[in-house]
Amino acid sequence: MQSVGVIGAGQMGAGIAQVAAQAGYRVLLADVDRARAEAGKAGIARRLARDVEKGKIEGEARDQLLARIEPADGLAAMSPCALVIEAATEREEIKRAIFAEVGKVLGKDAVLASNTSSIPITRLAQASPDAARFIGVHFFNPVPVMGLIEVIRGLATADATVKLVEQFAQALGKQVVHANDAPGFIVNRVLMPMLNEACFALGEGVATIRDIDLACQLGLNHPMGPLTLADFIGLDTCLEITRVLFEGTGDPKFRPAPLLVKYVEAGWYGRKTGRGFYDYSGDTPVPTR
Ligand code: NAD
Repeated sequence: MQSVGVIGAGQMGAGIAQVAAQAGYRVLLADVDRARAEAGKAGIARRLARDVEKGKIEGEARDQLLARIEPADGLAAMSPCALVIEAATEREEIKRAIFAEVGKVLGKDAVLASNTSSIPITRLAQASPDAARFIGVHFFNPVPVMGLIEVIRGLATADATVKLVEQFAQALGKQVVHANDAPGFIVNRVLMPMLNEACFALGEGVATIRDIDLACQLGLNHPMGPLTLADFIGLDTCLEITRVLFEGTGDPKFRPAPLLVKYVEAGWYGRKTGRGFYDYSGDTPVPTR
């Protein structure tokens, strides 16, 4: 497999493009238009420039890596790709429209994969040209740093499709875990209830933001506390995934914490909006409660 397509050049798509190019693949990177695809590549170049400064990568290797990433004008450019990974906005109608369009140019053996965090793979496969060649590949953020890919097969996914993405993951140096097509797959199924519970604890006055985070960080030996992590992921994303768990299982244990809902209604999404459980306007994050 020489050419890999990535659709969506946001934080995940750009990260996937970077690690694929690093592994030696030619990467065709598309977004809603060429300018956004170019912006995705420019972001990769900025991050790599910092890595060069820190001595993590040689300038020449960086140049070669960047030369392998080609911003595309549209999805027709994906025709030579044996694997196309969709990492566009988490909205089903957007993903469905992408699959219909790219399906017109995909080769007869090409695999189409989605990086969705929460939409069922079997349902998305219905919008793809061939459900046997459709699969979920769930990367983690930031992609160049995180060593895991969850692979999710839909009901009709063929063994050859699973094998192809396993080989791709191996070339990237990532570990694969296999999850069934169940809400939240593995990581979010386990993680989101913990983050949601931290929101309940805060809302019920169990402890302050600082103490909830410090307790979990030091008491559980986690690299960061749950409220810090929720802010990092995005509170809107946490709420969306928690709702998928709640609706997908019908189990009340997954009901979203009222405080999490309130923060999202207030537009306090975390780091990306400058305020979540912490205020990010200064040099260091300050707890807001
Ligand atoms: P993002 O908002 O950073 O990027 C999404 C990109 O998709 C944007 O650049 C947008 O312009 C583009 N896009 C929208 N419509 C498009 C279209 N029709 N054609 C091509 N591109 C289009 O979002 P993200 O965090 O990179 O998330 C992308 C996907 O990855 C989502 O499915 C999300 O659930 C999943 N995901 C996110 C994370 C995370 O931590 N952020 C982790 C794992 C998986």
